[in-house]
Amino acid sequence: MRLTESIHWVACGYVGPFFTAAGDCNVYLLHGPHGYVMIDAGGGKEPDLIGRQLRWDGVKLEEIKAILLTHPHVDHAAGANYWRKKTGAQVVAPEGAAEYLRKGGPYCPPSATNAPKSSIEPTPPDRTVAGGETFELAGLKLRAIAAPGHCPSMLCYRVDLDGLKVLVTGDCFYWGGKCTIFSLHDSDRAVFKQTLERLDKEEFDAFLGGHRFPVLHGAKEHLKLAIEEITRQIAGEPAMRA
Ligand SMILES: [Zn+2]
Repeated sequence: MRLTESIHWVACGYVGPFFTAAGDCNVYLLHGPHGYVMIDAGGGKEPDLIGRQLRWDGVKLEEIKAILLTHPHVDHAAGANYWRKKTGAQVVAPEGAAEYLRKGGPYCPPSATNAPKSSIEPTPPDRTVAGGETFELAGLKLRAIAAPGHCPSMLCYRVDLDGLKVLVTGDCFYWGGKCTIFSLHDSDRAVFKQTLERLDKEEFDAFLGGHRFPVLHGAKEHLKLAIEEITRQIAGEPAMRA
């Protein structure tokens, strides 16, 4: 569905309105001068449900020029090979995720506690980006921001679209200030808090989260709630419910 003239929301799984497969993160399309950038790729199960959203939005597959991943968790990255094959788009991934994506396999070591089942097939990126890097995809200018905490390789992306200063947040923070720590082997609350405080210094008024709802106005209010939430968690209080 179209959120603005240039931003489409084409997948949402288990946290949110749930209009595609349960294992999908939120997937967005950003329309640039030379085509679309797909933000994250979903979990790769039942991709036809994303395909029909694209059809309903009038998006032609060959117009998708890049698949830009925020981090390599299965619900965000496992669909990348499917969409690369289907569209001919290049897969662009955080530098820190490249080695895992090239090899594929289980994400979590067997010793990890409370970890969701997470395994993907080898998904070699066509290109990598690093925090601080400014780059162009489909004619859109983006800036990568290192955002470790949920996982070490996470990148957020800043882009200006339709008069909005947009932050793509992946699993860094969501609508309502929720941020996800699964006690995964790669999550770190203290690092997470520093990341959120750094993001608060960025200029943005809209954000596209990897789960829950996209926010087109008053984005900083949600970030403030996220900082409060992570501070509570560090103090040993229970996490906000999903
Ligand atoms: Zn994640």
